[in-house]
Amino acid sequence: MSSKPFWKTKALSEMSEAEWESLCDGCGRCCVIGLEDEDTGEQYMTDLSCKLFDAGACGCGDYANRFEKVDDCTKLTPENVPDLYWLPPTCAYRLVAQGRDLYWWHPLKSGDPETVHASGASVRGKVKPERGQKVRTLMRHIVDYPEPAARAPRKVRK
Ligand code: SF4
Ligand code: SF4
Repeated sequence: MSSKPFWKTKALSEMSEAEWESLCDGCGRCCVIGLEDEDTGEQYMTDLSCKLFDAGACGCGDYANRFEKVDDCTKLTPENVPDLYWLPPTCAYRLVAQGRDLYWWHPLKSGDPETVHASGASVRGKVKPERGQKVRTLMRHIVDYPEPAARAPRKVRK
């Protein structure tokens, strides 16, 4: 039996449902409304989220029924992850599909569901739900999110 964690030994298609679900770090970045420049392909994030996103909990407000409630919510699958170019580069599914390790803040690595927020990787408390704004209005909501901390903070004794 391998001593390596499952995300290093299994392809996305080989994961159990529980493993697959646990791979989501809870960053919420895939629920943020993004914009793409048709001419350049450049992508922008906004400070608006899907209407169903719970910014305080940093998760879907109705995960079980999300596809009935939001037409353009995309179900991630082992097959489509490599093609979903709008997933954030930090997305755990994307990282595994690329053969890369998870970041230090991922709860599977840190053992702490708070590290994804403490690192700056999540959008908890940083977005508000969209209300059907037109594209021109959405452009006024473009924001830069800080890069997550590259390393875990050092522990200091006071
Ligand atoms: S971007 Fe990826 S890791 Fe983050 S919440 Fe979405 S699916 Fe989960
Ligand atoms: S329906 Fe839920 S999972 Fe889908 S984009 Fe909206 S908040 Fe995210």
